[in-house]
Amino acid sequence: MKLYNTLEKKVVPIKPFKEGKISMYNCGPTVYFRMHIGNIRAYVDWDILHRSLTYVGYEVERIMNLTDVGHMSADEDFGEDKVEKQAEEEGKDPLDIANYYIRTVLDDFSKLNILSPKGNKINPNMPLDKLEEEGWTRATEYIDEMIEMVKKMEKNGYTYETTQAVYFDVTKIDNYNIFTNQSLEEKLEGVREEVGIDPEKRHPADFVLWMKRVGKYKNHIMHWNSPWGDGFPGWHIECSAMSTSVLGEYFDIHTGGIDHISVHHPNERAQNIGAFGHPSVKYWIHNDFLTGIEDTKISKSEGTGVSLPDALSLGFDPMDVRYLFASVNYRVQLKYTKESLEGARNARLSLISKLRAIYNSASGVESEILEEYKERFVNELENNLNVSGALAVISELLKSKEKSANILATVYDFDRVLGLNLKREVEQKDMDIPEVVLKLANERVEARKAKNYDMADKKREEIEIKGYRMIDTPDGFTIEEI
Ligand code: AMP
Ligand code: ZN
Repeated sequence: MKLYNTLEKKVVPIKPFKEGKISMYNCGPTVYFRMHIGNIRAYVDWDILHRSLTYVGYEVERIMNLTDVGHMSADEDFGEDKVEKQAEEEGKDPLDIANYYIRTVLDDFSKLNILSPKGNKINPNMPLDKLEEEGWTRATEYIDEMIEMVKKMEKNGYTYETTQAVYFDVTKIDNYNIFTNQSLEEKLEGVREEVGIDPEKRHPADFVLWMKRVGKYKNHIMHWNSPWGDGFPGWHIECSAMSTSVLGEYFDIHTGGIDHISVHHPNERAQNIGAFGHPSVKYWIHNDFLTGIEDTKISKSEGTGVSLPDALSLGFDPMDVRYLFASVNYRVQLKYTKESLEGARNARLSLISKLRAIYNSASGVESEILEEYKERFVNELENNLNVSGALAVISELLKSKEKSANILATVYDFDRVLGLNLKREVEQKDMDIPEVVLKLANERVEARKAKNYDMADKKREEIEIKGYRMIDTPDGFTIEEI
C-alpha cells in the first residue's frame, strides 16, 4: 500500500511498525451538532482506507475519538466550549447533548455503510456504553490518561503553568511546524489576536493542555481534579492521549482533514515528543475538503452546512452520497452541488442496472473470483487509493467476455471495499434472517396483540441490538438489516 504522507510531502510505501498490522487513529467528530456533509466525506474516505487495508491483507487496529469536551469555538484556546455552548442554547446537560449527537453520528454512519472503527456494521441503536468495544473513544472517558500525559510533558520540561492554564511551550520543539515548514515567527503573525487573553502566556503559538476552572471558565460544567487544580483538558491533548494510550507510543497512521495540518496535528506531534521523547505517528494522512457546502443551492439549514438528512430529503439515496465520496481520491478537492450528487446517482444506478442484466443472464451458481481483475483492482487501491482507477477496472470487467456468474462474484467481492451494498441492490432478495431475530419478531407480534406495548418495545430494541430493524406492514412485518 502506498499513501500520501503529509510529513514527507509525497506518496510513500507503507511499512507498518508490526508486519501485517496497521494501527490507525482518525480525528473524529466533536459531538455538538449534526455533522455536515464535509465531515462525512472525511469519514467515508477513512472507511475506504480501512476497508482497502483489510482487503489487501492487513489486520487493522483502528480507533476514532468522539470529542465531548474542550474543543473551543474557532479552535481558539479561550473560545467557548462547543458542547457546553450548545447545551446552554438547548437548555440541556452537556452529556445529553453529546449523547444525542453521538446518536446522529451513528445514524449517519450506518446509513452510509461506514463501518465502525473496529470494522463492523454499525447498529445506530447500539447502547452507548458499547462505543469503546466498537473502537470509539470518548474524550471524557480518557481524562486520567490526558492528565498522565501532561504530567510526563511537565516532567520533561515542555510545559509551564499560569494562573489560568497549563501550556505546551512550542519553542521547545525544533521543527514544530514540520508539516508546513512555516517558522514560528511567521506563525506568530497568524495568532497575534489571541495573545491578550492570558497575559502570562509566553508565545502566541503555545497551546493549552489543561484549562483551569477560573476566570471565564469558573462555571464550566464539565470539570475534573488535576495536579494543576480543578479544570478540563485542551482539545489537542485529547487526541494524543487517546491515540497513544490505546495504540501505543508508536503507531502507523493518523488521519484528519487538511484543516488540521497547520495547528492541531503539529500540536499533537509536539505533545507526543514532549511526553515520550519521540514522535508517535509514522504516516500523517489528510483528506482534502468538500467545498461549496455553505453556498450550495441545496442547503436548507443556514450556517451549519448541509447534513445527510438534508441531502436525503431531496430524494437521494445514502448510497448516492457514498458513491460520490467513494469515487474520488481523498486528496482531491471535491465540490458539493446538486449536480455532483445527481452524477453520482446516475453512475451508481447505471452500475446496478448493468449488474442486474448480468445477474439475469447468469446461469448456475458456480462462480469464482477473477484473479486477474482482482489483482488490477488491488493495484489501483495500493496506488494511494486510486479509486477512480479501481472503478475503471469494474467498467472493463462488466464489458468483458467473462462468465456472468464470475463477473458478479468478482464485483461483489470488490464491494467489500466500495461498500455500496451491490449484492442487495442487484438481487433484491430476502436475506437470511437469523432464527433468534425471527423468534424475537414473533414475540413482539404476540406482545402487541396482548397490548403489552412495553414488552413490544423491548423486543424491538433487542432486535435492533442484533443489527436488524423490524418494520410493521399491513399484513405483518418485514425485517431489514440496519
Ligand atoms: P471537526 O468535528 O470539526 O473536528 O471535524 C471532523 C473532521 O472532518 C475533521 O477531520 C475535519 O478535518 C474534517 N472536515 C471538516 N470540514 C470538512 C470538509 N468541508 N471537507 C472534508 N473534511 C472536513
Ligand atoms: Zn485530533
